[in-house]
Amino acid sequence: MRRSTLAVHAGREDFRRLKVHAPPLDLSTTYPLEDLAGGTACLDAAVEGRRPGDNPVYCRLENPTVARFEEAMAAMEGAESAVAFSSGMAALTACLLAASQRGRHVVAVRPLYGTSDHLLASGLLGLDVTWSEPAAIAGAIRPDTGLVIIETPANPTLSLVDIADVARQAAGVPVAVDSTFATPVLQQPLALGATYSLHSATKFLGGHGDVAGGVVACSEADARPLRQVRLATGGLMHPLAGYLLHRGLPTLAIRVERAQAGAARLAELLFDHPGVNEVLFPGFRGRQSDLLGRQMAGPGAVLSFRVAGGRGAAEEVLERLRLITPAVSLGSVDTLIQHPAGLTHRVVDDDARLASGIDEGLLRLSVGLEDPRDLWDDLAGALDAAGAATRAA
Ligand SMILES: *Cc1c(COP(=O)(O)O)cnc(C)c1O
Repeated sequence: MRRSTLAVHAGREDFRRLKVHAPPLDLSTTYPLEDLAGGTACLDAAVEGRRPGDNPVYCRLENPTVARFEEAMAAMEGAESAVAFSSGMAALTACLLAASQRGRHVVAVRPLYGTSDHLLASGLLGLDVTWSEPAAIAGAIRPDTGLVIIETPANPTLSLVDIADVARQAAGVPVAVDSTFATPVLQQPLALGATYSLHSATKFLGGHGDVAGGVVACSEADARPLRQVRLATGGLMHPLAGYLLHRGLPTLAIRVERAQAGAARLAELLFDHPGVNEVLFPGFRGRQSDLLGRQMAGPGAVLSFRVAGGRGAAEEVLERLRLITPAVSLGSVDTLIQHPAGLTHRVVDDDARLASGIDEGLLRLSVGLEDPRDLWDDLAGALDAAGAATRAA
């Protein structure tokens, strides 16, 4: 079946047998056991990272509502399995812990989402990290390298990394791709050789700014250590989050494609505005356009732009917007804007942040489903006012 059909039907195959049209929301934390031997067998399976079978036993092993979302995500990613977590950071942590069984060295490409960078750079997990340029990954790999991690498109610069090339360079070392900005609608990292395709489900997958979650799509063999980590460390997705995420998948493609069209329109308008020095958007005006089409079906719905006048002008723009909400996060039905240097990427080392191009004039815009003309009226008004204020100062 094609992806849009899977988006509507995956994880719902038993509905006719159950005589339901919406998935049951199972909030149980524990399950009645028919006999002790059966419960023991389910627990034994879970400890090995396998799915527990006919009885979930306890909420940390499996939840039937979340499992439906996992099955649907696996189908969307062209993966055997998917494992859901309480947040994107819990999902990334599980990948890092699972991979550290193989070796405690990680090769990472900047920029990454600010907290992902912080998790690696802070040493909180006791991992040894080498930061590498995408083309230099092969040379950064050591015998104790457990994981290579990239983010494409990267938050917040929207730079793309060639997944197939990274997988070739990794030469068998697992590769994690944070595909949050692309969603499975625009990119399927596993088909390009990645080991894990990781999402902050809090963003486009949830899509309405009301659910936190994370999910990793991978082979069944790679899913087992992730389930073991989840069972032992407890980063569970809540069943209501699983329900809402599963509910949102059928409309994911139309949301992403519509928001993407709005983002493309705004990229052009921002480019022509005198108050904007640079527009960062995948494929825009030839930027890394070879990867669009080959790796990614479209540019997505997030763009960043550099305002003339630096932090002062960026702050003016944020304060003057009326329709667009100044807030961190992205991928919602409504348009959000934020200042990476002051917010999401504040935790990143100053030199590394500047080297990645995250300066004080950079604003990140997550385009929603509003009419782009209304969004432009708001943005142009704010940019004009900010320009006038900066000139007057
Ligand atoms: C938000 C985000 C994360 C972290 O996800 P949470 O759900 O907030 O924990 C990771 N990677 C990217 C690219 C993100 O945008």
